[in-house]
Amino acid sequence: MSISTLDRDALGSLLSEQRAAYEDLRARGLTLDLTRGKPSPEQLDLSQRLLALPGEGDFRAADGTDTRNYGGLDGLVELREIFSELLGIPVPQLLAQGSSSLTLMHETLVWAMLHGFASSPRPWAAEETVRFVCPVPGYDRHFALLESLGIEMVPVAMNADGPDVEAIAALVADDPTIKGMWLVPTYANPTGGVTSPEVAARLMAMPAAAPDFRVFWDNAYAVHHLTTDETKSADALSLASAGGHPDRVLVFASTSKITFAGAGVSFFGGSPANVAWFKGHLKFASIGPDKVNQLRHVRLFGDADGVRSLMRQHRELLAPKFAVVEDVLAARLAAFDVATWTQPQGGYFVNLDVVDGTAARVVELAKAVGVALTPAGSSFPYGADPRDRNIRIAPSFPSLDDLRAAMDALATCVLLAAAEKALA
Ligand code: PMP
Repeated sequence: MSISTLDRDALGSLLSEQRAAYEDLRARGLTLDLTRGKPSPEQLDLSQRLLALPGEGDFRAADGTDTRNYGGLDGLVELREIFSELLGIPVPQLLAQGSSSLTLMHETLVWAMLHGFASSPRPWAAEETVRFVCPVPGYDRHFALLESLGIEMVPVAMNADGPDVEAIAALVADDPTIKGMWLVPTYANPTGGVTSPEVAARLMAMPAAAPDFRVFWDNAYAVHHLTTDETKSADALSLASAGGHPDRVLVFASTSKITFAGAGVSFFGGSPANVAWFKGHLKFASIGPDKVNQLRHVRLFGDADGVRSLMRQHRELLAPKFAVVEDVLAARLAAFDVATWTQPQGGYFVNLDVVDGTAARVVELAKAVGVALTPAGSSFPYGADPRDRNIRIAPSFPSLDDLRAAMDALATCVLLAAAEKALA
């Protein structure tokens, strides 16, 4: 019953059916939100103990440091030890900072623009053009950040095993204006793709015309598994050293989707030279991070296994939500051949591709019946999806019942838009 095989009569009945379903939706007065990948209140409750930690009288770090006071730019060593194990980065090369890794990415880019790296011929901002490779679909805030700094974006495809590395290698080989690229290596936002060790090795070894080419390795979902297969991220730092470019990769991560999204800890990792570079600029911006918050995270986790077991509790809450998304999409859309979607093994998103030229219409239809979706195109640089087909679904926040209702409404909108287009 693929929509492409329906004659005009059959399409007409499909259209009236979906119009009727859509009018029912309107009558229900829904207010549902699938926009941002926020943890649900139940997920936040998993870390509720943080509110009482480190507890009255508990303020000394393992080495005796009074966490209430200034200092300690690198962050608490015991927290860095835990994430060293989880992220595969030696402790001296891993800094623990404030609540947002996005802020660290922003700082890094601003310093690169103002000062450049040791291998930069001049500060990036002094270049006529600075460009970044952007795997698409990708994270909207990465793209907005580049746009805010006037860095141009060059899209390449994001595949199930990572970005299209052949295309990237060809681009960077003889274009010195390409100074870097984004990569969410594990459970990418929004495709859920996991960069394979082979793709990562090639990225770290490929020749680049810019001597200061950097891979911004945003490992936001490193431990955010949705199945019992707890895939390990490729070892970016070792691969960069082995590939002859030890300074190529800058690693970012945070506990935003481990503990409290708004009150967690962020991490920066890199080669010794990159860490020294980062601290060399950071020291003008801060006397030290919030060590009390870091200490309470240490008390909550205990060790790396504490993080792993907390993530399994998140999985218990999240996996049923991803199952609802899959159920509804399969039940409502599979037969019509009007969409493809990902079945992520981790992370926070499902990537839905609808009929070309209908994503914006689907989002508009959904909005009119009270279902908020991320604007069509937001997973692309400049918000421009060349095929107008991509929609990011963020199932973590709504309750299971709300999610089912929202997905059902979304499926109706996808079908309605597809039928309208086929008849147009
Ligand atoms: N990177 C990616 C890929 C994300 O999806 C998100 C959150 N949506 C962030 C970074 C934000 O991280 P933080 O909360 O640490 O700033």
